[in-house]
Amino acid sequence: MKAVSYRGPGDLRVVEKPDPRIEHPNDVILRVTAAAVCGSDLHLYRGLIPDTRVGHTFGHEFTGIVEEVGPSVRNLRKGDRVVVPFPISCGSCFYCQRDLFAQCENTNPNSELTCGVFGYSHTTGGYDGGQAEYVRVPFADVGPMKIPDDVTDEQAVFLADVFPTGYQAAEMGEIKPGETVVVFGCGPVGLFAQKSAWLMGAGRVIAVDHVDYRLDFARAYNNVETVNWREVDDIVAYLKDITGGMGPDVCIDAVGLEADGSALHTFLGRALMMQAGAATVLGWAIDAVRKGGNVSVVGVYGPPWNLVPIGTAMNKNLTLRMGQCNVKRYMPHLLEHIREGRVDPSRVISHRMSLDDAPRAYEMFAEKRDGCRKVVLYPGGVPQA
Ligand code: NAD
Ligand code: ZN
Ligand code: ZN
Repeated sequence: MKAVSYRGPGDLRVVEKPDPRIEHPNDVILRVTAAAVCGSDLHLYRGLIPDTRVGHTFGHEFTGIVEEVGPSVRNLRKGDRVVVPFPISCGSCFYCQRDLFAQCENTNPNSELTCGVFGYSHTTGGYDGGQAEYVRVPFADVGPMKIPDDVTDEQAVFLADVFPTGYQAAEMGEIKPGETVVVFGCGPVGLFAQKSAWLMGAGRVIAVDHVDYRLDFARAYNNVETVNWREVDDIVAYLKDITGGMGPDVCIDAVGLEADGSALHTFLGRALMMQAGAATVLGWAIDAVRKGGNVSVVGVYGPPWNLVPIGTAMNKNLTLRMGQCNVKRYMPHLLEHIREGRVDPSRVISHRMSLDDAPRAYEMFAEKRDGCRKVVLYPGGVPQA
């Protein structure tokens, strides 16, 4: 089959690989119908995730059709159309029983951190991902959700990751009706965090980024106020100013370790690698949020540590919540938002490309060229509009 293959930082190719096989009775093999490129893939692409091996296939946000079914699989049949959560979970361990699917103990047993994840290096288990013609899905009775006939692949594919992640970000912000929410980042995760903040009753939603075409889309898609942090003297002071001097009730970090905006963090965290990336946005969030407010972090940070103003957070009585998304917990509920027409995730797609064009897609998404917001790759050829 054809699959994306990592060769080293900034170097992806589409190569022939052996087709995946059933390796465990509860596996299925999917024929991938749509595979998105996520902001998290960019951290892999740039060589920032440890133990990303040459030949690894990325892709943790995909839909597909069940092609082959392991002998113990009960919930799926050949021909079913499914969307698969990016965290691979067993469904029965201590964490899965508590809906903490992203911390499943059985799918990444060599690590204390996170569960297995599709296409996300050997640090998360070494599972090949879905940017390929076929993918092996372990624990097939647990993760995949069937897509109803009235929902397209393009509407469903973001249920694998960015829609639930944005939703969990807003949920962890514990937004009360009428509150003011600032979302740092207008990538796909930030966009869905903004939309979810409205769904949860926010009174005001303010989006921050420095890429104007992304701020424009945030306004169009989510009807939010926007600010380009590069165009104000001091983003923290600005956010306090426009919120009556106190600061917003809730700040959401939907940027993570590759943030721009601080020479110090960029030098220490991105050039010298003396901390795990640039914790610039996390610092801004802690400084800007009002006393007693909530900071929610879904932007990815690598272990083990970053320079974070924890003393400020402590002395302001802040609540900090964070984490990988427990996707499975949210999928059924968010599917209903889609079916009832409240959210059309497919509008976030800016580029539809063939799997063969994956290297070009990554380059464009990484460099934020050509108005790129979100790319979906089609291993079976790009559907005609
Ligand atoms: P993206 O790269 O498309 O978006 C990031 C955005 O942040 C860009 O628009 C960029 O211009 C902006 N940005 C950079 N520096 C900024 C700053 N200082 N202030 C404000 N905005 C700034 O990525 P995405 O797909 O939207 O993902 C966002 C983050 O969420 C990534 O770190 C990704 O790894 C993470 N993520 C986490 C989970 C999870 O489960 N927690 C799941 C998916 C993605
Ligand atoms: Zn992702
Ligand atoms: Zn588990």
